[in-house]
Amino acid sequence: MITINRERCKGCGLCTDVCPAKIIMIKHDKPNSKGYYTAECTDNEHCRSCRMCGIICPDCAITIYKGGK
Ligand code: SF4
Ligand code: SF4
Repeated sequence: MITINRERCKGCGLCTDVCPAKIIMIKHDKPNSKGYYTAECTDNEHCRSCRMCGIICPDCAITIYKGGK
């Protein structure tokens, strides 16, 4: 599973493009305190813990946990 630090995220969408499971989306309802619409994981159960999202994020906003822990 992953967690995304909304205050670090600037909504660039790189993580949504790179995720092989397609479980990250940019949420367009509530911006963070800097005014960015941020990424959210929509289905952590299907995360493959491949780390691609964390590697590509330029703002180190994503933390990956292996095995759902
Ligand atoms: S670790 Fe891999 S499968 Fe999980 S959300 Fe990130 S890119 Fe997607
Ligand atoms: S790559 Fe990082 S900054 Fe860009 S949308 Fe994903 S979490 Fe946010």
